[in-house]
Amino acid sequence: MEVWNHQFECMDRNGIKHVQSARLMETVERVYFNVPYYRNRMQEAGLGPESIRSIEDLSKLPFTTKQDLRENYPFGLFAVPMSEIVRVHASSGTTGKPTVVGYTRADIATWSEVMARTLTCAGADRNDFIQIAYGYGLFTGGLGLHYGGEKIGASVIPISGGNTTRQIQLMHDFGSTVLACTPSYALYLAEAITESGINRDELKLRIGVFGAEPWTENMRREIEDKLRIKAIDIYGLSEVIGPGVASECQEQEGLHVNEDHFYPEVIDPKTLEVLPPGSTGELVFTTLTKEGLPMIRYRTRDLTRLNFERCKCGRTMVRMDKCLGRSDDMLIIRGVNLFPSQVESVLLEMGGIKPHYLLIVDRVNNLDTLELKVEVDEVFFPDRISQLEELRQRLQVNLENSLGLGIKVTLVESKAIERSEGKAKRVIDNRKF
Ligand SMILES: [Zn+2]
Repeated sequence: MEVWNHQFECMDRNGIKHVQSARLMETVERVYFNVPYYRNRMQEAGLGPESIRSIEDLSKLPFTTKQDLRENYPFGLFAVPMSEIVRVHASSGTTGKPTVVGYTRADIATWSEVMARTLTCAGADRNDFIQIAYGYGLFTGGLGLHYGGEKIGASVIPISGGNTTRQIQLMHDFGSTVLACTPSYALYLAEAITESGINRDELKLRIGVFGAEPWTENMRREIEDKLRIKAIDIYGLSEVIGPGVASECQEQEGLHVNEDHFYPEVIDPKTLEVLPPGSTGELVFTTLTKEGLPMIRYRTRDLTRLNFERCKCGRTMVRMDKCLGRSDDMLIIRGVNLFPSQVESVLLEMGGIKPHYLLIVDRVNNLDTLELKVEVDEVFFPDRISQLEELRQRLQVNLENSLGLGIKVTLVESKAIERSEGKAKRVIDNRKF
């Protein structure tokens, strides 16, 4: 199996620690002298650059949150003059101002490097045709994959998101071998390919590089079966760099974090204490090489676990589990914590049901109610209405058993739930808080 950067990706643990310590000290110095926000926060905590001598000292530093980025909108946390910034991206929040991130020329090179590692990790090389169906523009997905694809010497198709008919046509005519998009769009494309009448054997697709939203193992199996590809999970967020923070290798047993550039910690989101290796908690990143927008202990809200065991692929970079969900996506229904991905898992284990669903949360007489609308597979042709009702009840029981929560299940016909060409919308919360 190919490794893009053997020196770093396969470095022994002591070597990695040494690199991380040296780079952390540089980063702390950079933010202390160039970003008033960080200098003030460090001074409040009684810290100076000399307080940080190694990576072990990281936990002394305060956390950074999305709120801090908003309060310093648009460029307040940049650590270089604007003349050094060659690119900005922004992600729109659900409320208020977008989160703005900036890159120097060196940051773009770092980003290309980690994306080259990601694509190589996924099994792609210079002989591949990469169809990038992530959105191009302010979102980091499209351009992130684009630079990585060019760096490994692959042929890049910058088709961007949407326009499914054209996606399928070019996939067929150009012979795309790698598809990069959100997992929900991959599933949508799989259905559309079946409907288009194109035989799967006419396509050359072999790898999918999917991220930007949490997805379950069952969803992976569904995509792999339908598209007959290896589906690789990638992870990133614009505040850290964009895609390229971590990526699965072909073992598909956790995502290797590019920890020579992005140092991961897992904390208890309530006490904010760093948890011992192997514990599940909130993922926190400190950038170790970024110039434009360095991040100190940025709270991602994503929940995961770190695994320091050596991977069969030969890479030594720590692995993070596929994200279970985002603490922001977690619903609290009658006191029970629920991630939409848990519902999805139950759906995919049942026959006769498609993983297209919508959760509707409401509050009636001060009591939370939860309804699940889910599509029935058209291959499931019940002879009698009673068979549909039997399916509905079985689903309701399965959900209650595995989630510990009563959910009203409504079956709807195929295609009744709106398809998304970007991130799938899974929840409508009508409760007024
Ligand atoms: Zn591996």
